[in-house]
Amino acid sequence: MDRLTSPRTIKYIMEKYGFKFSKGLGQNFIIDDNVLERIIEGAEITEDDVILEIGPGIGVMTHALCEEAKKVVAIEIDRSLIPVLSETVGHHENLKVIHADVLKLDLMETLATEFGAVKPKLIANLPYYVTTPIIMKFLEERIPVTDLIVMIQKEVADRIIAKPSTKAYGALSVVVQYFTEPSIVTKVSRGSFMPMPNVDSTVIRLKVREMPPVTLTDERTFFLTIRDGFGKRRKTLLNALSSGDLGLSKDQARIALDAAGIPEQTRGEALSIDQFATLANAIYQVKIGG
Ligand code: SAM
Repeated sequence: MDRLTSPRTIKYIMEKYGFKFSKGLGQNFIIDDNVLERIIEGAEITEDDVILEIGPGIGVMTHALCEEAKKVVAIEIDRSLIPVLSETVGHHENLKVIHADVLKLDLMETLATEFGAVKPKLIANLPYYVTTPIIMKFLEERIPVTDLIVMIQKEVADRIIAKPSTKAYGALSVVVQYFTEPSIVTKVSRGSFMPMPNVDSTVIRLKVREMPPVTLTDERTFFLTIRDGFGKRRKTLLNALSSGDLGLSKDQARIALDAAGIPEQTRGEALSIDQFATLANAIYQVKIGG
């Protein structure tokens, strides 16, 4: 068999196993060695690392990961790829392939069983429609991983790393930056995949913070403040906060904004994560009648 990144290998697999690409499962396989190298380098994988890979496909990345890391657990939803993976990467003794839908798997239990108390790095090149839900699931449920290295649509990466008062800045930016320190690993053009998708991608690395970057009185109020603050993008904060899920009256919103030192006419997209925290803490005080 040729290298796993070779289109000839993919054709060989299609013929031998009768494999057909599933558009619904977002099957676009990497055929570019440089992209692989940049991901492995950006993830800073050492021989002490343990890895959770979601969506190994025919095992291109899996193979590279097995060569660098201590242990790799790969979760693949497509049953027809399991015998393929057994041929392409089955010889790696530090690899375990699990046939499952990652969205239905008890991740806490799987991680405890496979890695004990050691936190893995998550590496995923998934269909775009599941990538953001998976990132949010890992962060919000605090599934113990040290980093999330994920291939995502370029526009979503831009939103995640965006700074205040830019077009891409939104709730996703603030929430992801609250949980992690995001950085760009590499941009990937659509020509690096087979079959070729119709969008370009970016690989980002989200380094999970050990300590939150802001001090919060109540985390739920913080998330609600972000949601309401960005809920109606063209509204002033006074209007947005008094017509959202926080259930604040206009007077309460005015008092909280004043206590946080934020002018009423400011819009949510201008607030930094620190300002959202200050505002959320003020809102919490107002709500408990303090
Ligand atoms: N990692 C390989 C690569 O880079 O060449 C394959 C990437 S391909 C974009 C996405 C892979 O994720 C496919 O193999 C697909 O079957 C798998 N997949 C899609 N949805 C999944 C899910 N919910 N759980 C686990 N794997 C999934």
